[in-house]
Amino acid sequence: MTSKSAAAAARATVYGCPRQGSNRELKRAVEGYWKGRVTAAALRETAAGLRRTNWCRLAEDGIHEVPTGDFSYYDHVLDTSVMVGAVPARHREAVETDGLDGYFAMARGTQDVAPLEMTKWFDTNYHYLVPELGPDTVFAADSTKQVAEFGEALALGLSPRPVLVGPVTYLLLAKPAPGVATDFEPLTLLDRLLPVYAEVLADLRAAGARWVQLDEPALVQDRTPAELNAAARAYRDLGALTDRPKLLVASYFDRLGEALAVLAKAPVDGLALDFTGPAAANLRDLAAVGGLPGRRLVAGVVDGRNVWINNHQQSLTTLGTLLGLAGRVDVAASCSLLHVPLDATAEPDIDPQVARWLAFARQKTAEIATLARGLAQGTDAIAAELAANRADLASRAGSTITHEPAVRARAAAVTESDGHREAPYQQRAAVQRDRLRLPLLPTTTIGSFPQTAQLRTARADLRAGRIDTATYDKRIETEIQEVLAFQEKAGVDVLVHGEPERNDMVQYFAERLVGYLATRHGWVQSYGTRYVRPPILAGDVSRPEPMTVRWTAYAQSLTARPVKGMLTGPVTMLAWSFVRDDQPLGETARQVALALRDEVNDLEAAGSSVIQVDEPALRETLPLRVADRAGYLAWATESFRLATSGVRSETQIHTHMCYAEFGDIIRAIDDLDADVISLEAARSHMQVADELASAGYPREVGPGVYDIHSPRVPSAAEAAVLLRKGLEAIPAERLWVNPDCGLKTRGWPEVRASLENLVSAATEVRAALPGNAH
Ligand code: GLN
Ligand code: ZN
Repeated sequence: MTSKSAAAAARATVYGCPRQGSNRELKRAVEGYWKGRVTAAALRETAAGLRRTNWCRLAEDGIHEVPTGDFSYYDHVLDTSVMVGAVPARHREAVETDGLDGYFAMARGTQDVAPLEMTKWFDTNYHYLVPELGPDTVFAADSTKQVAEFGEALALGLSPRPVLVGPVTYLLLAKPAPGVATDFEPLTLLDRLLPVYAEVLADLRAAGARWVQLDEPALVQDRTPAELNAAARAYRDLGALTDRPKLLVASYFDRLGEALAVLAKAPVDGLALDFTGPAAANLRDLAAVGGLPGRRLVAGVVDGRNVWINNHQQSLTTLGTLLGLAGRVDVAASCSLLHVPLDATAEPDIDPQVARWLAFARQKTAEIATLARGLAQGTDAIAAELAANRADLASRAGSTITHEPAVRARAAAVTESDGHREAPYQQRAAVQRDRLRLPLLPTTTIGSFPQTAQLRTARADLRAGRIDTATYDKRIETEIQEVLAFQEKAGVDVLVHGEPERNDMVQYFAERLVGYLATRHGWVQSYGTRYVRPPILAGDVSRPEPMTVRWTAYAQSLTARPVKGMLTGPVTMLAWSFVRDDQPLGETARQVALALRDEVNDLEAAGSSVIQVDEPALRETLPLRVADRAGYLAWATESFRLATSGVRSETQIHTHMCYAEFGDIIRAIDDLDADVISLEAARSHMQVADELASAGYPREVGPGVYDIHSPRVPSAAEAAVLLRKGLEAIPAERLWVNPDCGLKTRGWPEVRASLENLVSAATEVRAALPGNAH
């Protein structure tokens, strides 16, 4: 085909849609089913209706080829486990008795049986259920769901393309099943898995599918030669099948790198590539491997992960270049639209000036359709859309919301010394010791105390106008009194106010910072039926007034013990929001850091001697490619230091991170220059302490001794065992005693008992320390 006919054939497509429905109907139906209020038939009916609405809407909005099989009651990786028959032994009976109940048992566990582990889908905030495989895994094809959903869309007269998690990604996302050697590599099962995929492909072909999409996002990560070989083998074998639909291999979230050559050489019929952000490098790499002559290229030019309007002119330039590199070029979003909210027009509270910069799933769909039309019919055919797009982009670039001179001037004036404390850690530690006079093995918590139903009701009442601000504030004060009284009585050394006023650790601050927007319906699936509404960081960030000082100062006024100020750090403020894409992340992080720096300084001025700045997202936003990590860690650590370095040496800065696997970022954690860090450790039996010690980490550490992810109350003896384990790695002068994470999801009875036990454990172990023995 010439590039002219490649253009004429251009079609619009997407890889997946938000599943929930415009009123989160799916959440209600699934949760209703769990509670026995919704029948299986009614649940299926709701689900089918949502799929139908999604497809019809896509078609109406100009999408030529609609995805099928992307829908899920819970998670599409779990659906893939069902499709290939990889049901863990402990769930087999339940799955055989009732497919739907067994499915939910795998997702959520039951009284007696543990669920599959859940983890993040690449660097998104979506969580999938980790396949559990072993040398004894026997795969068996079950194409029921894929075939049925394809049939539903076909019956609507649409042109559907089934979307499957590809076999290589499926295995790379898996982990050894319980009881299997931890060094077992699921990828060794590839030869057993491929025939199952062949069977599913044949079934889809028989059902009438002309194309099938196989998603291989795992290939955008750094891969070993063996893994790349496995990918080559997989697509050589699948490509060689005779009874199969055409194969479109898709990747997203980053550039394919060395895997691009592998896929381009494979006997498949097309590739779908991401051309947004760092993945724009795919363009150069595709040219370098000679393109895909005579084959189909689906170009992900509209960013599927952010909420901003596309730059059409830029996309058309990319598409124009791609026309010379493939037999046929189609237009798509960079990835499934699962990661963005449904519809920006459903947000009446957003300033219309800003609303025109926003594109959620529906708006992105329209953008894709426009670009495909422009490609097929020439830019004259989309002249009106191009003009509107140019005007919207210009309004964004020229707005004082995105370019606030005072914020810009302040960020530009930041000097190297602003990012450094006045004295080095060792010196600060001595001053802080003298000031705080804490015992060895001081006890503390991570910040939040139980978010009770009364607190949530009070917040809902305030929003609905049923109570006034003064009444609400009184309730928060009463809660703080109770939290403080409990901690004093239990004998905790460094207290917290309990965060009762916070709905969420990011949203609370986003609501108080200029530059952030909140949505009313901007729900995005986090996992299963849990949806979050990330704030939108749209403009230059500043802090009009103190955000937390009032509550922290109130708490401090109730006690002679130190109360820790509690803030969310700049990296986490970005990671759990939709962030502007019109400037480098590091610049945005710097603005947030400066706003937080004012808050840290104000807390100090109001009498806080200890201030914690949480960065639970530091590890999760680590770039997928190792080569990109240093750049990220540089701005991430700089922004943390900028937020925390304005205080005097005698003020102790804490940070908190929720994970135990931080091997990759241990240097960066040291670069934060925090005085104290608390980390998750109870589940991994303090392994974190050993790792920090062997890396020569010089600061104070609080490896969690109480696993707050479980309702179990740890005994004092158990906590003491962990604490002694911690002492083998970290000297008593630098070891803190605390839970793994905040307590907001727990109930008061467990929290009371657990913290009392934690304090007893600290007291007991402390008493036995050399020099302390009586
Ligand atoms: N300070 C927060 C809390 O205790 C930290 C939460 C987190 O690490 N995710 O809730
Ligand atoms: Zn945490």
